[in-house]
Amino acid sequence: MVSLFISDLHLDESRPAVTAEFFRFLGEQAAAADALYILGDFFEVWIGDDDDAPLALEVIAKLRQLVDGGTRLYLMHGNRDFLYGEAFCQASGATLLSDPSLIQLAGSPTLLMHGDSLCTDDVEYMAFRQQSRSAPWQQQMLSQPLAARRQLAAQLRQQSQSMSAMKAEDIMDVNAEAVTATMAEHGAKRLIHGHTHRPARHDLGGGKERLVLGDWCSQAWCIKADEHSIELISWPVGA
Ligand code: MN
Repeated sequence: MVSLFISDLHLDESRPAVTAEFFRFLGEQAAAADALYILGDFFEVWIGDDDDAPLALEVIAKLRQLVDGGTRLYLMHGNRDFLYGEAFCQASGATLLSDPSLIQLAGSPTLLMHGDSLCTDDVEYMAFRQQSRSAPWQQQMLSQPLAARRQLAAQLRQQSQSMSAMKAEDIMDVNAEAVTATMAEHGAKRLIHGHTHRPARHDLGGGKERLVLGDWCSQAWCIKADEHSIELISWPVGA
């Protein structure tokens, strides 16, 4: 049984090469796998399941094709696409995973997360995260017309880019104590997350490890696991 994990594709109309690479990946590697897990920031931004932009509709159709072909599909919210709801899952055939989710993988209890909730040093972001994950905030957001949400999303994107540019490097990475505590809380031997765009395989000692997925830009990143082994792989986009 082969499971694949990807995150941080940041699908966006402005990056057609990444979208094309993803569709190729779906038709080849993912179609041949038993399960595909998308661990957040799949889209650069998700403004609601009623989005009728061509990219949104095309991606949903391709995901549905994958699921109809027999690959199970799991989706986790990221910090940019936390508004997927029931309609998206129905249309695409995806199962929404809560963050974190514990699964058994390659012989070890493995915790899946997007990763943003581990960046506890970024106090400002953690406050926004708490606010934006609340039901009233989301209802208020989704009750606005699509055009207004598109505009708001563009503003938020700009804001987050300028905020990131001003923050110290180490604030943007996961907090080591948060990693240890979260893994212990869930009895995990392995943690897989994305978000930080720092792909790596970290040996945490004591038989524990942390695998970090990379974002899709010039390279595509994927974790491939079967019953016995797990590996972090990458290849050039558009090769
Ligand atoms: Mn993220």
